[in-house]
Amino acid sequence: MAQTQQFVSNCIFCKIIRNEESGEKIYEDEDVTCIKDINPVSTHHYLIIPNKHIPNAKTLQPEDSELFNKIVAAVDVISEKMNLDPASTRTGFHWPPFNTVHHLHLHVISPIEKMNGIRKLMFPNPNNYWFVSTDYVKSRLENNKNRAI
Ligand SMILES: [Zn+2]
Ligand SMILES: [Zn+2]
Repeated sequence: MAQTQQFVSNCIFCKIIRNEESGEKIYEDEDVTCIKDINPVSTHHYLIIPNKHIPNAKTLQPEDSELFNKIVAAVDVISEKMNLDPASTRTGFHWPPFNTVHHLHLHVISPIEKMNGIRKLMFPNPNNYWFVSTDYVKSRLENNKNRAI
């Protein structure tokens, strides 16, 4: 537990959420925060992060389902706010061990057609070994829930 606490206090995203570190916030509510990716691969590149520290999509627990749904629902809020075309918007999660920041974040990238730079290889059309869709994570969560029963 002490180790987890230490990890959270050193986490860059937790610091941005607590306003201890600068980050351009696009949106925030009591459950999620959306910031700009510091190295955008297209015109729009945002990260939707839970305010609660969760390491990655693989460590999500069945009890996080509601929070997970809020992360996914935030995509619509951001899309509307930033005027993104849903048809050319890509979303996805890193899949361990292919992670960057170890605080769960959903990448929202638009337009797909304008993606450029070497870093775009990190964000292919999901699902791959390293980048997975919200649907994939959701079905995995649902299956875990069934297994628990
Ligand atoms: Zn964190
Ligand atoms: Zn990332």
